[in-house]
Amino acid sequence: MRGAWNGRGVKESMLSAVDVAAPALAGGARDVVKSLFDRYVVPTYGRFDLVMSHGSGSEVWDVNGRRYLDLGGGIAVCSLGHAHPEVAATLAQQAQRLVHVSNLYYHEPQGRLAESLVGLMGGAGKVFFANSGAESNEGLFKLARRFGHHHPGEEGPRYEVISTLNSFHGRTLGGIAATGQEKVKAGFGPMLDGFRCDVPFNDLEAMRAAVGPRTAALLIEGIQGEGGITAASVEYLLGLRRLCDEKNILLMVDAVQCGHFRTGCFQSYQRVLSDALGEEEAGRFAPDAVSMAKSLGGGFPMGAFWVAPQWADLLGPGSHGTTYGGTPLGCAVALKVLEIIQRDHLPDHARETGQWLHAQIAALADAYPHVVQGARGLGFMLGMELVAAEKIPGLAAAAGTRPASLQCVDRLHEAGLLTIPSGTQIVRLLPALNLPRAQAEEGMEIIRKVVRALA
Ligand SMILES: *Cc1c(COP(=O)(O)O)cnc(C)c1O
Repeated sequence: MRGAWNGRGVKESMLSAVDVAAPALAGGARDVVKSLFDRYVVPTYGRFDLVMSHGSGSEVWDVNGRRYLDLGGGIAVCSLGHAHPEVAATLAQQAQRLVHVSNLYYHEPQGRLAESLVGLMGGAGKVFFANSGAESNEGLFKLARRFGHHHPGEEGPRYEVISTLNSFHGRTLGGIAATGQEKVKAGFGPMLDGFRCDVPFNDLEAMRAAVGPRTAALLIEGIQGEGGITAASVEYLLGLRRLCDEKNILLMVDAVQCGHFRTGCFQSYQRVLSDALGEEEAGRFAPDAVSMAKSLGGGFPMGAFWVAPQWADLLGPGSHGTTYGGTPLGCAVALKVLEIIQRDHLPDHARETGQWLHAQIAALADAYPHVVQGARGLGFMLGMELVAAEKIPGLAAAAGTRPASLQCVDRLHEAGLLTIPSGTQIVRLLPALNLPRAQAEEGMEIIRKVVRALA
């Protein structure tokens, strides 16, 4: 096995832009890899029966040499697809220069990336760098607690963070405490104190009623991702801002999945607001803090949170840290990813091609209403909502054991397409922002074929 991997030299794969002809692993490799996982990897994931080898753009090959079109984008991570030549070159160059220095020192890539992200957030505020979405959200929780200690209520320090039903905020203890889904908490109690996550999303009055004397912050996703692609409404966003101002609490947004231009705007709430109110009005709205990860590094593990200027120095020296956050390597890559997204007008592309995909899925719902209920989402954060498995002719037989989302994703795999299930009835499309239009069409053709077969 070792030889097979080494056979694909690092240099070679970095330097050739489209290295799709790399040999598949030797025969039987698929079973060998799977048995390694069975024996040595903690089985926290229910994995699909696919063993991946390499990719290029929005195409991925498994170890048997079979090609898949990837509309899952590593769950909204691979914002420029796989093995982007310029990103690979930046990785190689920065790796030869400086991979890591401690956050005890300064270095240019972190400063430059912070400057870019602050610019995208409207030009003010500051950024802290972490390594993942969950870790970025932990930073938000600590920010909220610091804020609550500096701005106590009548009953003393405030610390409570309120989030919403069907939210997802990561797998740390703080993250699962804030996540409004029972399945992530099962068997891990007691939950961390100071969280409440039972408030329905897009329900302003319920949120108003939930805020108490200990509340320090509200946390929402601009578009709920794991919860099934539900966008915040414009009334909700504006109402939460008013509520937070009135009660002097922080409005925090988890943009780990929906951010970084996925919807056509840097932040998904900007997309929602500018669609409804125009760009100028949208520019007046700002949360107090935003967490980021997934697309930020284009596949390189990277997280961050942005803090509005009035709270930007709450977390002072010694109050928070992380060994690997904001390394020269990660920041150089994230800067390159940002540069390419903007240079190649990918936000507009994601918006337009996303709109086309949305319309195609909506048309499928019209044509096959007993399979597809509707289209959800914005830009390249899309969901195809299925009807329940027991009501879909082609899926009913296995309805008891596997929900419609998983069964449909299985069928799409068989047809050569990667997508991401969400809950029991949603199939998500979270493609690379540079997905060519021809591949969007190819993906839709596969989806159409599979839906037709289920009908
Ligand atoms: C993926 C995700 C997270 C967790 O990010 P990790 O990098 O897996 O820790 C948090 N919030 C949202 C909205 C996510 O989609």
